[in-house]
Amino acid sequence: MTSSLYNHKLHALRVFPEAKPLVLENVRKLKQQIFETNQYIQQILRLAYYRNYPEYSEMDIRFRLACCREGEKVKIYQKRLKANQLLLKNIKPPKPSKDKITDNDIYQAKQVPLETLIPDTIRAGSKRLKCCCPLHEEKTPSFVIYEEKNTYYCFGCQAHGDSIEFVMKTENLNFIEAVKKLNGRW
Ligand SMILES: [Zn+2]
Repeated sequence: MTSSLYNHKLHALRVFPEAKPLVLENVRKLKQQIFETNQYIQQILRLAYYRNYPEYSEMDIRFRLACCREGEKVKIYQKRLKANQLLLKNIKPPKPSKDKITDNDIYQAKQVPLETLIPDTIRAGSKRLKCCCPLHEEKTPSFVIYEEKNTYYCFGCQAHGDSIEFVMKTENLNFIEAVKKLNGRW
């Protein structure tokens, strides 16, 4: 009962792929220990057989005890081996990082200056960078870039946001795609 519960827990465990060499090494060591202990038991048995000690002699009892002791060791090693082999089964290859983005990726993407994404910006009255809104049709620039925050606002269509939102809108990408594009991973 306890053992099956233990196994159940191991099954539920997701093992990090990094652990694989360590578990493989454990399996190798345990197999070696089982092999060596079994060899030792064989040796004891052979010794007992060839010396042909009468049953219940002191030496015979010692041999029996030694066999039991070594046999117990083998049982423990086998249990550990089984647990390690189960761990190996639970090691899944890492998920493809294709769609993964980190907080740092998002941060980096937000740092990409908006003016580098819009080629035809002009500095209006030496203050704000302006241009004709890329998100709606217009003849006079009402799209303003706030460089200190790297955000934009359009006084014509009220569109606003940061570099990620800008790329999402202009290139029709989702958030992850926009972040990747801004980080040159697209
Ligand atoms: Zn606009």
